[in-house]
Amino acid sequence: MGNSVDLFEYQARDLFESHGVPVLGGAVAFTPEEAEQAAASMGGRVVVKAQVKIGGRGKAGGVKLAESASDAREKAAAILGMDIKGHTVHKVMIAQAAPIEAEYYLAILLDRANRNFLVMASVAGGMEIEEVAHTSPEKLARVGIDPNVGISKELALDIVKKGQFPAEVADQVADVLIKLWAAFVAEDATLMEINPLVKTSDGKVVALDGKVTLDDNAGFRHPDHEALVDHAATNPLEALAKEKDLNYVKLDGQVGIIGNGAGLVMSTLDVVAYAGEKYSVKPANFLDIGGGASAEVMANGLSIILGDPDVRSVFVNVFGGITACDAVANGIVQALSILGDKATKPIVVRLDGNNVIEGRRILNEANHPLIQQLDTMDGAAARAAELAAK
Ligand code: GDP
Ligand code: MN
Repeated sequence: MGNSVDLFEYQARDLFESHGVPVLGGAVAFTPEEAEQAAASMGGRVVVKAQVKIGGRGKAGGVKLAESASDAREKAAAILGMDIKGHTVHKVMIAQAAPIEAEYYLAILLDRANRNFLVMASVAGGMEIEEVAHTSPEKLARVGIDPNVGISKELALDIVKKGQFPAEVADQVADVLIKLWAAFVAEDATLMEINPLVKTSDGKVVALDGKVTLDDNAGFRHPDHEALVDHAATNPLEALAKEKDLNYVKLDGQVGIIGNGAGLVMSTLDVVAYAGEKYSVKPANFLDIGGGASAEVMANGLSIILGDPDVRSVFVNVFGGITACDAVANGIVQALSILGDKATKPIVVRLDGNNVIEGRRILNEANHPLIQQLDTMDGAAARAAELAAK
């Protein structure tokens, strides 16, 4: 599963700073009191900014200038708890205020459609960048970057020219772009966006707002990225599954699904979705327990699925291969004894493949009240859907 980690603005700011991308002072605050303290340490005049992972905070009233530390406290009290497009504000960033003379736009992203990296740069940044992209696309430079070559000063200056930046900031903007590319590569990012990149009244170019997405597939190279994940926002069942090393994704249906092999689980989802149509039930999750489906892994998988309050029936769909059906059947029986009274929902099992006769015999012999065996995938899906409809 390709996952990505979206950062809050204050985390992006810190990451930029660590790579030498110019930023202003900034601190995160969870309460009005913390906001006041942070503002006081920055000299009083600050910008209080809602920390939510959605754009357009400025227009939604989530970015407010404060004239003093006590004003920052009041502004923070007003912004904390606000709802911005369905995102509740739990923290604010206190940012050193800057006298802004111009707002620019700079971004590097993984361009999946073109299988390349892309730089976008424009003199016309700020809150209307989407508008600019539509109405005056000539003001938005779009330049593909060969990752083996990177961004030289010459290329950076060329991009800056295409983005129509004025000559007096060209050098500084080019340097920001070079540093941003280095940060992008070093952190295995798929997106680093600065909007606005501003020119302050003393002529300095600084990043005022940052958006960063990190590639979780490269997480093993970045143990420090784990601390950037917003665990409060991840589904608790998914978090538990990750702890147990299970490949689980929560969906919004009622039939819990366990299978071995991603391809088999995917087709199980399809078959259950089809069978569930007439009862209005759907698959509740994706869970691939992999090739070596031991009793322990089966118990972990079953307990996560049975812990999902939306689940009303479970479909275990296993094709015996290296781990033969008899081992899987024993795993299911042992898993149910490990779970004891925690197992409360009907479980439809379909075994096929290596040693299937023995596997089915073991389950029949166990004669567990929750288990129903069916021989075909379609039949088992239909039964699981019917049980979930009850
Ligand atoms: P967004 O609306 O979620 O993208 O939030 P931004 O951080 O980009 O802020 C929106 C706008 O608020 C910016 O385009 C600026 O015009 C303004 N703004 C943000 N920080 C400052 C600041 O330090 N000083 C001033 N004067 N304006 C700011
Ligand atoms: Mn912005």
